Amino acid sequence: MTACGLILALVDAGPCRTWVLTGLAGFYIVLLAVGALAPRLNFYMRAVCRGPVDQPWVALTFDDGPDPAITPLLLELLRRERIRAVFFYVGEAARQYPALVAKTAADDHLIGNHSNRHGYGWAFSSTQRIVVEFEAANRAFTQILGYAPRFARTPVGASCPGLAKALERLRLGYIAWDVRGLEGLYRDPARIAARIVRRARNGSIILLHELYYGVSRFESHQVLETAQLTIDGLRARGFRFVRLDQLLEQPEGTPWPDGWEPSPETGALLAEGGAGESMTGDRIVPAASRAGRA
Ligand SMILES: [Zn+2]
Repeated sequence: MTACGLILALVDAGPCRTWVLTGLAGFYIVLLAVGALAPRLNFYMRAVCRGPVDQPWVALTFDDGPDPAITPLLLELLRRERIRAVFFYVGEAARQYPALVAKTAADDHLIGNHSNRHGYGWAFSSTQRIVVEFEAANRAFTQILGYAPRFARTPVGASCPGLAKALERLRLGYIAWDVRGLEGLYRDPARIAARIVRRARNGSIILLHELYYGVSRFESHQVLETAQLTIDGLRARGFRFVRLDQLLEQPEGTPWPDGWEPSPETGALLAEGGAGESMTGDRIVPAASRAGRA
């Protein structure tokens, strides 16, 4: 704004000044829009886009479920591959398919809050209205699971001035990504997976979709094939899959909001060296208690 003032002071009044003003206003609007839609810029608040980089560990996340045609198949695939992920579920879909939410948690995946209705109106609202949107989803998860999530991802990663305060009030950590599939753009599972595998780095948080909520569904075979090829490709590159909370709890430092504490169960797992694909035989090892986490 200081730069704008200086520029205006140097420009004479008249048509030229009007053009400069219009240009600056346009630039400012574009800047706000880019800041709102690119969480990695940390424009309005700090987003967790990637974990510590010292280990070849990556975390899978799936957005926009649950969906009865896709979620059970995806859970089966992850069980077979012994991978635990984060499912960022939409609150109203969770209310519609509570059994899928419970099944996801029973398989020791984490449930994240992906807003209540996957709308965008909240991004133009007050802090209180943002709280209402994400709290409604939290209530749905709490009714099903007995505890609220501790991770949130906003629809399309959108952010706005009141988001930081709202998520802090709900004790939700804001999770973005550093690698994503862009499934709606590329469609072809082989191409999507190849792109992810090429871009993944130590500590990557990988965003995939079960569907695009309220916009389009993918065929279940597309989702499964994309997930399978991504898993195979990343393993071939030497990456190991860990659950997001474990990725972020590495002792080398976590990009995490003040006041956040690791869950006792995860701390114990790490102490035992059991982070990551911690399953025995065909079964995922369940945590002793899931109270207070998601
Ligand atoms: Zn979404």
